[in-house]
Amino acid sequence: MKTEKKGIPITGEITGWFIPFTDLDANCIERVLIMKAIAVRENAYAPVTGVHVGAAIEAEGGNQYIGCNVENDTLSQTIHAEENAIGGMIAAGDKRPIRVAIAVARKGVVFDTTTTVAIPESLTFRDFPPTCPQCLQIISQHCKDGEGKYDPTVELISITPEGGVFIFPISTALTMPLILDRL
Ligand SMILES: [Zn+2]
Repeated sequence: MKTEKKGIPITGEITGWFIPFTDLDANCIERVLIMKAIAVRENAYAPVTGVHVGAAIEAEGGNQYIGCNVENDTLSQTIHAEENAIGGMIAAGDKRPIRVAIAVARKGVVFDTTTTVAIPESLTFRDFPPTCPQCLQIISQHCKDGEGKYDPTVELISITPEGGVFIFPISTALTMPLILDRL
């Protein structure tokens, strides 16, 4: 028998939105980052899985960083696109991502950024293009607000090959990252 629900409910926000790439404002930061993610994905080295990933980060202050996945035959030493971009950001001296764009698809898939994709009647969490939990953790632990606390509002931007753009806070994708400064 389960315990009765006493105490207080724990609440949180799950929010996000979907927009056709073609409806993004010209030269908006989301468009810029998506295009960079798509471009760097061309350099992905993924002979094992054939999944090519590109990521582009806007850091606090406006600097941008890119990364692609670099597989290793051992698999356990594979570098993911998002961690590659975060690594570049850290190496350059920036500390906080503001938004992270990701383009993921099988090798050879071309992202359509010119045809207006239809807006579905409804979307669920399962419709987001996948980002692995390891990378969500890596991104999350650098998501800090002005006081150095975990900032769950850092934006993930993910484009489908058909040109649909998902924009959602990282807290939607990874609800419980390991944030050691909470201890
Ligand atoms: Zn990953």
